Amino acid sequence: KEIIKAEHVSKIYGLGSKHPYQALNDITLTINEGEFVCIMGPSGAGKSTLLNVLTTIDFPTKGKVFIDGEEVRTLSSHQVGLLRYERLGFIFQNFNLLDALTVKENIAVPLSLASVNRQEIDERIISIASKLNIEKLLEKYPYECSGGQRQRIAIARALINHPKIIVADEPTGNLDSANSHEVLDFFSKLNIEEGVTVLMVTHDPLIASYSSKLLYIKDGMIEHTIHKEALEQKD
Ligand code: ADP
Ligand code: ADP
Repeated sequence: KEIIKAEHVSKIYGLGSKHPYQALNDITLTINEGEFVCIMGPSGAGKSTLLNVLTTIDFPTKGKVFIDGEEVRTLSSHQVGLLRYERLGFIFQNFNLLDALTVKENIAVPLSLASVNRQEIDERIISIASKLNIEKLLEKYPYECSGGQRQRIAIARALINHPKIIVADEPTGNLDSANSHEVLDFFSKLNIEEGVTVLMVTHDPLIASYSSKLLYIKDGMIEHTIHKEALEQKD
Protein backbone atom coordinates (compact mmCIF):
# COMPACT_ATOMS: atom_id res chain seq x y z
CA LYS A 1 0.00 0.00 0.00
CA GLU A 2 1.45 3.34 -1.00
CA ILE A 3 2.01 5.88 1.74
CA ILE A 4 3.88 8.68 -0.04
CA LYS A 5 3.60 9.48 -3.71
CA ALA A 6 5.19 12.24 -5.78
CA GLU A 7 3.90 12.98 -9.29
CA HIS A 8 6.08 15.11 -11.57
CA VAL A 9 7.41 17.15 -8.67
CA SER A 10 9.70 20.09 -9.37
CA LYS A 11 11.09 22.64 -6.96
CA ILE A 12 12.50 25.97 -8.04
CA TYR A 13 14.03 28.23 -5.41
CA GLY A 14 13.98 31.97 -6.03
CA LEU A 15 11.26 31.77 -8.67
CA GLY A 16 10.89 35.25 -10.18
CA SER A 17 14.30 36.34 -8.90
CA LYS A 18 17.35 37.00 -11.07
CA HIS A 19 18.80 33.59 -10.30
CA PRO A 20 16.10 30.97 -9.90
CA TYR A 21 17.51 27.55 -9.04
CA GLN A 22 15.87 24.28 -9.99
CA ALA A 23 16.56 21.96 -7.07
CA LEU A 24 14.16 19.18 -8.16
CA ASN A 25 13.33 18.27 -11.74
CA ASP A 26 10.20 16.26 -12.50
CA ILE A 27 10.42 13.60 -9.80
CA THR A 28 7.86 10.80 -9.75
CA LEU A 29 8.12 8.14 -7.05
CA THR A 30 6.13 5.94 -4.72
CA ILE A 31 6.99 4.83 -1.21
CA ASN A 32 5.04 1.88 0.14
CA GLU A 33 4.02 1.28 3.71
CA GLY A 34 6.76 -0.53 5.63
CA GLU A 35 9.63 0.43 3.33
CA PHE A 36 12.95 1.71 4.65
CA VAL A 37 13.98 4.25 2.04
CA CYS A 38 17.30 6.09 1.87
CA ILE A 39 17.88 9.16 -0.27
CA MET A 40 21.54 9.42 -1.25
CA GLY A 41 23.62 11.49 -3.65
CA PRO A 42 26.23 14.24 -3.78
CA SER A 43 26.04 17.43 -1.76
CA GLY A 44 23.68 19.95 -3.37
CA ALA A 45 21.88 17.23 -5.37
CA GLY A 46 18.50 18.06 -3.82
CA LYS A 47 18.23 15.37 -1.14
CA SER A 48 17.00 17.61 1.67
CA THR A 49 14.70 19.47 -0.70
CA LEU A 50 13.15 16.17 -1.80
CA LEU A 51 12.74 14.97 1.78
CA ASN A 52 11.12 18.30 2.69
CA VAL A 53 8.62 18.38 -0.18
CA LEU A 54 7.67 14.74 0.43
CA THR A 55 6.85 15.48 4.07
CA THR A 56 5.04 18.88 4.14
CA ILE A 57 8.08 20.83 5.38
CA ASP A 58 8.23 22.50 1.98
CA PHE A 59 5.95 22.54 -1.04
CA PRO A 60 6.70 21.75 -4.68
CA THR A 61 6.68 24.48 -7.32
CA LYS A 62 5.05 22.00 -9.71
CA GLY A 63 3.55 18.55 -9.34
CA LYS A 64 1.66 16.75 -6.61
CA VAL A 65 2.57 15.07 -3.34
CA PHE A 66 0.24 12.59 -1.64
CA ILE A 67 0.68 11.43 1.94
CA ASP A 68 -1.49 8.57 3.10
CA GLY A 69 -3.80 9.24 0.16
CA GLU A 70 -4.23 12.96 0.77
CA GLU A 71 -2.93 15.49 -1.71
CA VAL A 72 -0.96 17.90 0.45
CA ARG A 73 -1.77 20.99 -1.59
CA THR A 74 -5.52 20.55 -1.11
CA LEU A 75 -5.22 20.63 2.70
CA SER A 76 -5.59 23.73 4.86
CA SER A 77 -2.61 24.73 7.00
CA HIS A 78 -4.46 23.37 10.02
CA GLN A 79 -4.92 20.02 8.27
CA VAL A 80 -1.25 19.99 7.25
CA GLY A 81 -0.34 20.58 10.91
CA LEU A 82 -2.49 17.65 11.98
CA LEU A 83 -1.09 15.40 9.26
CA ARG A 84 2.41 16.24 10.43
CA TYR A 85 1.76 15.64 14.11
CA GLU A 86 -0.41 12.57 13.72
CA ARG A 87 1.41 10.68 11.02
CA LEU A 88 5.00 11.93 10.67
CA GLY A 89 7.86 11.81 13.16
CA PHE A 90 10.78 14.11 12.30
CA ILE A 91 14.41 13.65 13.33
CA PHE A 92 17.10 16.15 12.37
CA GLN A 93 20.88 16.14 12.29
CA ASN A 94 21.13 18.91 14.88
CA PHE A 95 18.36 17.35 17.04
CA ASN A 96 16.29 20.61 17.23
CA LEU A 97 15.60 20.25 20.96
CA LEU A 98 14.39 23.24 22.97
CA ASP A 99 16.90 24.15 25.66
CA ALA A 100 14.30 26.03 27.72
CA LEU A 101 12.31 22.83 28.23
CA THR A 102 13.25 19.71 30.18
CA VAL A 103 13.84 16.47 28.33
CA LYS A 104 10.41 15.28 29.38
CA GLU A 105 8.75 18.47 28.13
CA ASN A 106 10.64 18.23 24.84
CA ILE A 107 9.41 14.70 24.29
CA ALA A 108 5.83 15.81 25.02
CA VAL A 109 5.85 18.68 22.49
CA PRO A 110 4.06 16.78 19.69
CA LEU A 111 1.32 15.79 22.14
CA SER A 112 0.33 19.39 22.74
CA LEU A 113 -1.69 19.21 19.53
CA ALA A 114 -3.16 15.80 20.21
CA SER A 115 -6.09 15.19 22.51
CA VAL A 116 -4.24 13.06 25.04
CA ASN A 117 -4.72 13.41 28.79
CA ARG A 118 -2.02 14.03 31.40
CA GLN A 119 -1.86 10.44 32.63
CA GLU A 120 -1.56 9.00 29.14
CA ILE A 121 1.14 11.54 28.31
CA ASP A 122 3.16 10.37 31.34
CA GLU A 123 2.65 6.71 30.47
CA ARG A 124 3.73 7.21 26.89
CA ILE A 125 6.82 9.18 27.93
CA ILE A 126 7.90 6.51 30.40
CA SER A 127 7.36 3.74 27.88
CA ILE A 128 9.32 5.41 25.07
CA ALA A 129 12.04 6.62 27.47
CA SER A 130 12.66 3.10 28.70
CA LYS A 131 12.89 1.76 25.14
CA LEU A 132 15.54 4.37 24.37
CA ASN A 133 17.26 4.10 27.73
CA ILE A 134 16.83 7.76 28.67
CA GLU A 135 14.60 7.41 31.77
CA LYS A 136 17.24 8.98 33.98
CA LEU A 137 17.42 12.09 31.79
CA LEU A 138 13.75 13.11 31.89
CA GLU A 139 14.11 15.93 34.44
CA LYS A 140 17.33 17.26 32.91
CA TYR A 141 17.75 19.88 30.19
CA PRO A 142 19.03 19.04 26.68
CA TYR A 143 22.25 21.02 27.19
CA GLU A 144 23.12 18.70 30.10
CA CYS A 145 23.01 15.66 27.80
CA SER A 146 25.58 14.19 25.40
CA GLY A 147 25.14 14.14 21.62
CA GLY A 148 24.06 10.50 21.58
CA GLN A 149 21.60 11.14 24.40
CA ARG A 150 20.19 14.19 22.64
CA GLN A 151 19.62 12.18 19.50
CA ARG A 152 17.77 9.52 21.52
CA ILE A 153 15.64 12.29 23.09
CA ALA A 154 14.86 13.62 19.61
CA ILE A 155 13.87 10.11 18.53
CA ALA A 156 11.61 9.75 21.57
CA ARG A 157 9.92 13.02 20.64
CA ALA A 158 9.51 11.86 17.04
CA LEU A 159 7.90 8.60 18.17
CA ILE A 160 5.66 9.81 20.99
CA ASN A 161 2.62 10.02 18.70
CA HIS A 162 3.23 6.61 17.11
CA PRO A 163 3.82 8.04 13.62
CA LYS A 164 3.35 5.86 10.55
CA ILE A 165 6.36 7.46 8.91
CA ILE A 166 9.73 8.39 10.39
CA VAL A 167 11.44 11.20 8.51
CA ALA A 168 15.11 11.82 9.17
CA ASP A 169 17.68 14.15 7.57
CA GLU A 170 21.21 12.92 8.27
CA PRO A 171 20.17 11.50 11.66
CA THR A 172 23.64 10.15 12.38
CA GLY A 173 25.54 13.12 10.95
CA ASN A 174 26.64 14.32 14.38
CA LEU A 175 27.07 10.92 16.03
CA ASP A 176 30.07 8.64 16.47
CA SER A 177 29.86 5.16 14.99
CA ALA A 178 28.71 3.41 18.19
CA ASN A 179 25.82 5.86 18.60
CA SER A 180 25.03 5.68 14.86
CA HIS A 181 24.71 1.91 15.05
CA GLU A 182 22.45 2.17 18.07
CA VAL A 183 20.14 4.69 16.36
CA LEU A 184 19.98 2.59 13.20
CA ASP A 185 19.28 -0.62 15.05
CA PHE A 186 16.42 1.19 16.72
CA PHE A 187 14.95 2.43 13.40
CA SER A 188 15.45 -0.97 11.87
CA LYS A 189 13.60 -2.65 14.73
CA LEU A 190 10.67 -0.23 14.45
CA ASN A 191 10.58 -0.82 10.72
CA ILE A 192 10.67 -4.59 10.93
CA GLU A 193 8.63 -5.21 14.08
CA GLU A 194 6.05 -2.43 13.83
CA GLY A 195 5.96 -1.81 10.10
CA VAL A 196 6.83 1.87 10.48
CA THR A 197 7.90 3.43 7.19
CA VAL A 198 11.33 5.08 7.32
CA LEU A 199 12.44 7.83 4.94
CA MET A 200 15.92 9.13 5.41
CA VAL A 201 18.56 11.35 3.80
CA THR A 202 22.10 10.14 4.38
CA HIS A 203 25.66 10.17 3.14
CA ASP A 204 26.43 7.17 5.29
CA PRO A 205 26.86 3.80 3.51
CA LEU A 206 26.16 2.09 6.84
CA ILE A 207 22.60 3.44 6.78
CA ALA A 208 22.16 2.44 3.16
CA SER A 209 22.89 -1.12 4.21
CA TYR A 210 19.80 -1.04 6.44
CA SER A 211 17.46 0.23 3.73
CA SER A 212 15.08 -1.71 1.53
CA LYS A 213 15.17 0.92 -1.21
CA LEU A 214 17.83 3.41 -2.17
CA LEU A 215 17.00 6.53 -4.21
CA TYR A 216 20.11 8.00 -5.73
CA ILE A 217 19.58 11.70 -6.53
CA LYS A 218 21.75 13.77 -8.84
CA ASP A 219 21.07 17.28 -10.15
CA GLY A 220 17.53 17.20 -8.81
CA MET A 221 16.64 13.95 -10.56
CA ILE A 222 16.46 10.32 -9.52
CA GLU A 223 19.46 8.82 -11.25
CA HIS A 224 18.67 5.32 -10.07
CA THR A 225 16.56 3.36 -7.63
CA ILE A 226 18.04 0.28 -6.03
CA HIS A 227 15.86 -2.34 -4.36
CA LYS A 228 17.37 -4.46 -1.63
CA GLU A 229 16.11 -7.70 -3.21
CA ALA A 230 17.96 -6.76 -6.38
CA LEU A 231 21.13 -6.20 -4.37
CA GLU A 232 20.77 -9.52 -2.59
CA GLN A 233 20.09 -11.48 -5.78
CA LYS A 234 23.36 -10.26 -7.27
CA ASP A 235 25.57 -12.01 -4.73
P1 ADP B 1 21.38 18.24 -0.60
O1 ADP B 1 20.50 17.94 0.55
O2 ADP B 1 21.44 17.16 -1.62
O3 ADP B 1 22.75 18.69 -0.18
P2 ADP B 1 19.62 20.51 -0.92
O4 ADP B 1 18.28 19.93 -1.19
O5 ADP B 1 19.91 21.00 0.46
O6 ADP B 1 20.74 19.47 -1.40
O7 ADP B 1 19.88 21.70 -1.91
C1 ADP B 1 19.81 21.52 -3.33
C2 ADP B 1 20.20 22.83 -3.99
O8 ADP B 1 19.22 23.81 -3.72
C3 ADP B 1 21.52 23.40 -3.46
O9 ADP B 1 22.19 23.98 -4.57
C4 ADP B 1 21.09 24.45 -2.47
O10 ADP B 1 22.04 25.48 -2.38
C5 ADP B 1 19.77 24.94 -3.07
N1 ADP B 1 18.86 25.36 -1.99
C6 ADP B 1 18.44 24.62 -0.96
N2 ADP B 1 17.57 25.30 -0.20
C7 ADP B 1 17.46 26.51 -0.77
C8 ADP B 1 16.72 27.68 -0.45
N3 ADP B 1 15.90 27.74 0.62
N4 ADP B 1 16.83 28.76 -1.27
C9 ADP B 1 17.64 28.70 -2.36
N5 ADP B 1 18.36 27.63 -2.71
C10 ADP B 1 18.28 26.55 -1.94
P1 ADP C 1 22.16 20.04 4.11
O1 ADP C 1 23.15 19.85 5.23
O2 ADP C 1 20.90 19.27 4.28
O3 ADP C 1 22.75 19.90 2.73
P2 ADP C 1 22.46 22.87 3.94
O4 ADP C 1 23.46 23.07 5.03
O5 ADP C 1 22.87 22.87 2.52
O6 ADP C 1 21.65 21.54 4.25
O7 ADP C 1 21.29 23.91 4.13
C1 ADP C 1 20.74 24.19 5.38
C2 ADP C 1 19.50 25.07 5.20
O8 ADP C 1 19.79 26.21 4.37
C3 ADP C 1 18.38 24.34 4.50
O9 ADP C 1 17.16 24.63 5.19
C4 ADP C 1 18.32 24.89 3.10
O10 ADP C 1 16.99 24.96 2.61
C5 ADP C 1 18.91 26.26 3.26
N1 ADP C 1 19.70 26.61 2.08
C6 ADP C 1 20.61 25.84 1.46
N2 ADP C 1 21.13 26.45 0.40
C7 ADP C 1 20.53 27.67 0.33
C8 ADP C 1 20.65 28.77 -0.54
N3 ADP C 1 21.45 28.76 -1.61
N4 ADP C 1 19.88 29.86 -0.29
C9 ADP C 1 19.05 29.88 0.76
N5 ADP C 1 18.90 28.85 1.62
C10 ADP C 1 19.64 27.77 1.42
